[in-house]
Amino acid sequence: MANVLWLQGGACSGNTMSFLNAQEPTVVELVVDFGVNILWHPSIGMEIGHQVTHLMQDIIAGKVQMDILVFEGSIIEGPNGTGTMNYFCERPMKDWVKELSAVAGFVVAIGDCATYGGIPAVAPNPSESTGMQFLKKQKGGFLGADFVSKGGLPVINIPGCPAHPDWISQILVAIATGRIGDVKIDDFHRPQTFFTDFVQTGCPNVSNFAQKIDGGFGKRGNGCLFYEVGCRGPMTRASCNRILWNRTSSKTRANHPCLGCTEPGFPHNDLVKGSVFKTMKYLGFIPKEVPHGESKIGYMMKAGVAKILPTNHAVMEGNK
Ligand code: SF4
Ligand code: SF4
Repeated sequence: MANVLWLQGGACSGNTMSFLNAQEPTVVELVVDFGVNILWHPSIGMEIGHQVTHLMQDIIAGKVQMDILVFEGSIIEGPNGTGTMNYFCERPMKDWVKELSAVAGFVVAIGDCATYGGIPAVAPNPSESTGMQFLKKQKGGFLGADFVSKGGLPVINIPGCPAHPDWISQILVAIATGRIGDVKIDDFHRPQTFFTDFVQTGCPNVSNFAQKIDGGFGKRGNGCLFYEVGCRGPMTRASCNRILWNRTSSKTRANHPCLGCTEPGFPHNDLVKGSVFKTMKYLGFIPKEVPHGESKIGYMMKAGVAKILPTNHAVMEGNK
């Protein structure tokens, strides 16, 4: 049995919507078969108003055990560090989160905003948003780089915009059944079981990628989306093409470019105009970002693009 409290900060509720669609296991199975007891959730919790305040006070006082604190959305620290832009139960939400994290068995951040700051933290970041233990790639975030929950782990990050529902439900099962110690996390605190392979693993466009056959947005089965419309599948660690969404499909299977939402740099290029759904290039033809583990020059050589380069000098300029 594991008592779960789920709170939302700077959130759109997208991760809640995703979670409710979990299939292996479903939310009902979490409760009925795996002993997950949801103390409260903003969308499905029965308590309202002061009842929620009292519940959180009782958790902090040690009268109610909370095994897992799930947080969705960014931690809002604005304006000027006060956190009053996100008031909840008569206090800044960030103050609740600080005290609840201190007594939680485990803390799980769900979605890109809670993990790394996500879209709310894009400059100029008017809400002073940050992630629970990271701000983008920088470790620290709201709880600080040294935070470790009572269960002995730092914040477990399940990024995504939204996170895949089964990534969430399976991590909750691992904690509830005492198996979370078997789950290794990477440098960005992501469970390696879901975030080691790249999105490209399992993408039906892989042969088009290898053969440099360019596809187009929404043109199903016609080519790879890396070359023009900015697919980040080769440099984004996530299992979207292994554990399909709704057990049916994925972005790249529907010929929608991967946006790289499970990487701490998301949204990439800070959403500058013209950077979304577009492959950023030097000199108009050299991709600024190449598949993970490739040098730009090595990638270009492999791609056979060298033969169309105007001059060697131009290549060297492009790689500066
Ligand atoms: S770049 Fe994108 S569309 Fe192309 S093979 Fe990789 S994941 Fe699939
Ligand atoms: S395909 Fe890419 S953008 Fe879509 S959910 Fe997976 S990691 Fe995120």
